[in-house]
Amino acid sequence: MTDQTSATISELTSDTPIMAFAQLQLAAPLARAVAEMGYETMTPIQAQAIPVVLQGRDVMGAAQTGTGKTAAFALPLMQRMLKHENTSTSPARHPVRALVLLPTRELADQVADNIKQYGKYTNLRSAVVFGGMDMKPQTLELKKGVEVLVATPGRLLDHIEAKNAVLNQVEYVVLDEADRMLDIGFLPDLQRILSYLPKQRTTLLFSATFSPEIKRLANSYLQDPVTIEVARSNATASTVEQHFYSVEGDDKRHALHQVLKDRGLKQAFVFVNSKLGCARLARSLEHEGLKTTALHGDKSQDERLKALESFKSGEVDLLVCTDVAARGLDIKDVPAVFNFDIPFHSEDYVHRIGRTGRAGAAGLAVTFVSKSDMRLVADIERLLKTKIELEPLEFDENLPDIRKQGHINDGRRMYQQEAGDTRREEFAARVPRAPRNDYRREPVKSQDPFFSKPYEPPVLTPDAAPSWEASARPGVRSVSSNIKTKRKVAALFKSA
Ligand code: AMP
Repeated sequence: MTDQTSATISELTSDTPIMAFAQLQLAAPLARAVAEMGYETMTPIQAQAIPVVLQGRDVMGAAQTGTGKTAAFALPLMQRMLKHENTSTSPARHPVRALVLLPTRELADQVADNIKQYGKYTNLRSAVVFGGMDMKPQTLELKKGVEVLVATPGRLLDHIEAKNAVLNQVEYVVLDEADRMLDIGFLPDLQRILSYLPKQRTTLLFSATFSPEIKRLANSYLQDPVTIEVARSNATASTVEQHFYSVEGDDKRHALHQVLKDRGLKQAFVFVNSKLGCARLARSLEHEGLKTTALHGDKSQDERLKALESFKSGEVDLLVCTDVAARGLDIKDVPAVFNFDIPFHSEDYVHRIGRTGRAGAAGLAVTFVSKSDMRLVADIERLLKTKIELEPLEFDENLPDIRKQGHINDGRRMYQQEAGDTRREEFAARVPRAPRNDYRREPVKSQDPFFSKPYEPPVLTPDAAPSWEASARPGVRSVSSNIKTKRKVAALFKSA
């Protein structure tokens, strides 16, 4: 399937004029910031979107995070807003003129950080508000006045209701990762927020995938939009080698160990579908000797940042995560992505594997498919318009049999853990959740340098070899229980 999808990005970007930023005639303060960030040539989405946004047109953009999308909308919006910049200390002189909405805290922080950097030589003010943090510092910033407000929908509504944010002078709205906002169920919040904005405005909508719901949203809120696509919507990156292995549920952890070892992978993301499953899998893998951390929506902002930092620094080898937590993070060059669970929404497959093979680097995406997953795989086939071939996975007999370990060797410990989990879950279900405005938490700096620090694969000394290599011994191979030895199963399904 790699062959069939490989043409998409190169085909569709070959017509894109390669343009230098210098050709854009950006205002001097913006051009200076861009040059300082080391950008010389525009990315395809920038080359196409910036001129259109400069003309004040609405945009419906198909682009994933990691394509340079933030600069594609932020630079032209700021250029248009420069006519309003002023040094007055009066909040009235700094009304919100551009609103950028994103689905997750991490993305909001990342985008706000980029916008601060692009605008650092202008007098335009920007701020970010998202949930899980103390509202007070956000309120103080809003009260001083900001021209560019980056926000997640829930927290923005809190501020609107508290009359901290007034949106009646908004001229530009960016709905970023719009498909995900709909997935998370933000549509009612979005509609409420949009009802506070002036009708006369420019709207930019970006989404990695264009589902019928996104198109409906676009049709109701965009006026005569210019559609921009840098890759066919729902396309997967050309540089990602994709494999679908037939593995039954009980064998999936064993299979993960096997592929890590076979491929000599240093680090990987492992995607699962539920928060509980995420925490459990991370714990199991840790018990099995893999340095692992978990990232899911129930973790506090601080815990999420720590988990990511430990992955970026190479302290951990595996990041087990759910879709919500991992969406859009600018971590470059993750060597591999595993779909331990197949996503319920096929679009998430595209997002997940977009974590690897970024910026032209080679990536590996491995999906474990059990018999009960066939319908979900068929959904992915339909989305990608590609036939998926299931491959058998051969197991090295000298790899510790994870399945046996779980149930026999340290079964008691694991059983106790699971029981503890259940008790904690039940307890959590009975105990009311903390209120949304949790003033006890320490705010994190909105300009956390973490997000601007590119991911660099850790340099592994022999001592620090990936944890799975320590237990790997060459030897005879056996095959997972649902696969006959050495026979390629090659389960093909009909494409829809
Ligand atoms: P984004 O898709 O906006 O999250 O951007 C992904 C990464 O690409 C960020 O680290 C940006 O700083 C970087 N970037 C954006 N545009 C360019 C460019 N024209 N040249 C080099 N790097 C860029």
